[in-house]
Amino acid sequence: MATMTRGTLESKVVVQETHVGKGVFARRKFKTDAIIAEITGELIHDPLYTSAYCVDMGDDIALEPDPPLRYLNHSCDPNCELFVYDDDMFRLYLVTLRPVQPGEELTIDYGWPADVAIPCLCGSKNCRGWVVDPEELPLVLEREAKKAAKAKRNSGKKAGKAASNGRSKPAATI
Ligand SMILES: [Zn+2]
Repeated sequence: MATMTRGTLESKVVVQETHVGKGVFARRKFKTDAIIAEITGELIHDPLYTSAYCVDMGDDIALEPDPPLRYLNHSCDPNCELFVYDDDMFRLYLVTLRPVQPGEELTIDYGWPADVAIPCLCGSKNCRGWVVDPEELPLVLEREAKKAAKAKRNSGKKAGKAASNGRSKPAATI
């Protein structure tokens, strides 16, 4: 069972800029399996609701988190996870997966479905290349392979046209 950490949220985390926008950083040490905080926000009962920050809570309910925890970024090698306890439905907690040092960015695995996956910039050693649920990664790779094959065919056509002009651009000189 995870243990709740003491202190105000402000004493635990701070929002800072990262290479992908805002991120949430630890202000202190956390042990493994520590509850940093409950993620509070608005519960929205709408199966079609979507936003950049919302969390799917199941049962057609989305949670739109309040700052600062709405700025948690994705990592393919996250140090935290979002957790719902069985006896406490629709309350979401941010829990550490490993020890966290002060100054470390807190990250979670977004696990998005394939149809909304975007390229991942997390930079971790085991980066999947996409912000996507690991189980849905093959779907994304298949889609991208098809796209790449199509782009190749199209660029082949363009190259043919350029060649028929009989001229190529002069090479850029430095
Ligand atoms: Zn990644």
